[in-house]
Amino acid sequence: MIDISQKEVWFVVGSQELYGEETLRKVAEHSQIIAKGLDASPSIPVKVVYKDVVKSPSQILDVCLAANSAKNCIGIIAWMHTFSPAKMWIGGLNILKKPLCHLHTQYNAEIPWGSIDMDFMNLNQSAHGDREFGFIMSRLRKKRKVVVGHWEDERVQKKLGIWSRVALGWDELQNLKVARIGDNMREVAVTEGDKVEAQIRFGVSVNGYDSSDVTKHIEKVTEKELNDLLGVYESSYNLTDSLKEGGAQRSSLVEAAKIELGLRAFLEEGGFGAFTDTFENLGVWKQLPGIATQRLMADGYGFGGEGDWKTAAMVRALKVMCVGLEGGTSFMEDYTYHFTPQKSYVLGSHMLEICPSIADGKPSCEVHPLGIGGKEDPARLVFNSPAGDAINVSLVDMGTRFRLIVNEVEAVKPMAELPKLPVARVLWDCKPNLEVAATAWILAGGAHHTVYSQSLTTEYMEDFADIAGIELLVIDEKTTIREFKDKINANEAYYHLFQHGL
Ligand code: MN
Repeated sequence: MIDISQKEVWFVVGSQELYGEETLRKVAEHSQIIAKGLDASPSIPVKVVYKDVVKSPSQILDVCLAANSAKNCIGIIAWMHTFSPAKMWIGGLNILKKPLCHLHTQYNAEIPWGSIDMDFMNLNQSAHGDREFGFIMSRLRKKRKVVVGHWEDERVQKKLGIWSRVALGWDELQNLKVARIGDNMREVAVTEGDKVEAQIRFGVSVNGYDSSDVTKHIEKVTEKELNDLLGVYESSYNLTDSLKEGGAQRSSLVEAAKIELGLRAFLEEGGFGAFTDTFENLGVWKQLPGIATQRLMADGYGFGGEGDWKTAAMVRALKVMCVGLEGGTSFMEDYTYHFTPQKSYVLGSHMLEICPSIADGKPSCEVHPLGIGGKEDPARLVFNSPAGDAINVSLVDMGTRFRLIVNEVEAVKPMAELPKLPVARVLWDCKPNLEVAATAWILAGGAHHTVYSQSLTTEYMEDFADIAGIELLVIDEKTTIREFKDKINANEAYYHLFQHGL
């Protein structure tokens, strides 16, 4: 359900008329070669489309207007091969709504020592042309990514790839509809927030539905659909004996399959890319959706438990960002701790809804009591997750702004089997360590719900925060509590000023 095949970034090159035809012809020629090179890069997941060399305020305005209205254009990569007096860019940049990446590069990599002359210098002057461009963006307080280096360098292409992926996630949010099935878990604070402000800021629309809206679809499920899906369960997962045909708990699996089919039909009919539910508002559903939600997430849907629409939207956005990359992305919750004098860990999980995209093998499909909600025992997929680097991401509403909190973690193999734990789980080591990470997270007001991603890094989230114009707090190897507190205080002042039109 994630299709990025038509998405493109535009490569826009700035110059000016005074260089004359010959130089401008070369600028265009070089720009096309660079655009082709970037388009062919395996690090950049979208098309890179060469646009004209822009040489006047009206041409610049036109390309920005066109980018705004082109549905498939997810952002602009801009580069000044020559000098492009930047007052010409004010009109265009002022109205540009799409993300912008400033590629500070040069056509040639090395100086041709033996042949360099003034003609060469006139043509290859991005070293100062891009600084003029940088000034006007800073003067306009325009957030953008700056990538420096030769365009053929893999590191440069990887950075452009990261930004392109974030622009894809941003583009997705502009059209994303989140279905909030049932309201919030009663009295919970952090999963609430300003949905109007979220739509203004991120584009995402969040609207409420009742479980009965899904029940209508559950009632329409045919015998064939049901049997086909049960067949998929049987071939994709290790079913416990009691869930196999004729088993004592088979009816629970059948019920879970009906809920999946109904939920899927509801989401497809409404064009939703993400959803929430809550165990307190399940209406006549017999179980809390477990395997259904897990499989929908694996197919790319965003999800947040207990009405958590912010995390649902972020799960979806991050799934779009990492499409085609190794590793998975899931809804997650810091669940319980493993404290030892040497090192401490977090066991992350949820009641049921962890995405099998982060599973370390074939999940087992099991039915167990839930313990809360007063419904029948739900079916769920149970698995461990592989060791390796990951991030936990939380978006919270601070009342006057949104804050994005990121903690870099390293997942580790659990020290022992967990034979009685009936949920999917991940054990991780927080950077710099649990004591500092959890202190900082709590001081930042980070939620218990997160998006856990094995594919993405902090750099993606930094680009995302810049595009969205929101606050970012990172907890990594270098975090110290004293500096983190100062950062929070400084940000309070910064965002107060920013809101009043800095
Ligand atoms: Mn929860």
